[in-house]
Amino acid sequence: MPLILVLVVVGLLIIVSIGQAYESTCPKCGRFGGGEKIGAKEIPGTNYTRREPHNRYIEHYVKVRVRCRCKHCGHRWEKEESRRVG
Ligand SMILES: [Zn+2]
Repeated sequence: MPLILVLVVVGLLIIVSIGQAYESTCPKCGRFGGGEKIGAKEIPGTNYTRREPHNRYIEHYVKVRVRCRCKHCGHRWEKEESRRVG
């Protein structure tokens, strides 16, 4: 594999992991990446579809309520996020 390709892949992985760490920052103690997901539940009746202009497929989404817990201070919180179901 060419070195430049390796660097691009590694760079993307780092960006993705930083994004995930940022998403899971604890709202109480503010520790970066302290939150871990302990459960997720679909919210009934929140199914929706989205059609991208550049995409000829219709994407189906549902909203889920995600429960998170902080690894550092034990704080628990919930957040909503969209999950693609098809
Ligand atoms: Zn915390």
